[in-house]
Amino acid sequence: MNSESAPLLKVEKLNKSYGRGFSTKNRSQILHDVSFGLHRGQTLGLVGESGSGKSTTAACVMGLTGVDSGVIEFDGVDLTSLKKAEMRRMRRRIQMVFQDPNGSLDPRFTVSDLVEEPLVIHGVKDTAERSRRVGEALDRVGITAKQAERYPFAFSGGQRQRIAIARALVLEPELVVLDEPVSALDVSIQAQVLNLLSDLQDELGLTYLFIVHDLAVARLMSHRIAVMKAGRIVEAGPAAEVFDHTTHPYTRALLDAVPGARRKARALVATGDGPSTEGQ
Ligand code: ADP
Ligand code: MG
Repeated sequence: MNSESAPLLKVEKLNKSYGRGFSTKNRSQILHDVSFGLHRGQTLGLVGESGSGKSTTAACVMGLTGVDSGVIEFDGVDLTSLKKAEMRRMRRRIQMVFQDPNGSLDPRFTVSDLVEEPLVIHGVKDTAERSRRVGEALDRVGITAKQAERYPFAFSGGQRQRIAIARALVLEPELVVLDEPVSALDVSIQAQVLNLLSDLQDELGLTYLFIVHDLAVARLMSHRIAVMKAGRIVEAGPAAEVFDHTTHPYTRALLDAVPGARRKARALVATGDGPSTEGQ
């Protein structure tokens, strides 16, 4: 079912509008025929200016909002055709990390409870197994068992994002949708979290849909890039090609708007051991 050449995630002609009722005059179309593929173990960087539809694309992939038309195929199954219960089961395999970890970390719970919660929700009944998996997920992101007895407010922004990543990983997903996961962090902390994400991808064979408006980060992390403008994918290809040889005027304009992008990419790499660029 899962041949080497078939993408893990395939989005085809996705259309999405927001507004009241079915009449088109009360609705505004946000996504227009969005199509892309993402292979297992790879990262697709979805870039584009604010408001171009990146987060809406993520929401559609996650089943957080309905679509007007189009196909979202995950491991050969069209997610848009699934019933609620089927989508719930599928959601174990597709997890998300948001820009602001505070939104997903309820301050009334300990870190350990927060990372355990997805296991409870998804019906892992064995408490010993739950605590083993919580320990493993926290260990992967560098949070100790002792630290995990504390509450989110006791942690820095970077640590909170690590905790949010542990929460996403505890279900052992295959696809992780990362929506601006380091945008709220200081640059030095960004590098650490990016390195962590990169290491986790190598260790666990994770597939990332990496939404990012920062082109330096996109260049560093992505195997392939898709450029969005006003709800459309206007350019897509291997990261090196899109960044170094684009002839597309919109992508060119995005790159020119951040003359320091390449310098920042180098600085990010220099701060840590540098995310893997294999397969680019
Ligand atoms: P990005 O993540 O690229 O910044 P978004 O996907 O968040 O862009 O937004 C794309 C467009 O969709 C924007 O014009 C935004 O105002 C609109 N939009 C997003 N969410 C909603 C919503 N729930 N209801 C109505 N319009 C929305
Ligand atoms: Mg967004």
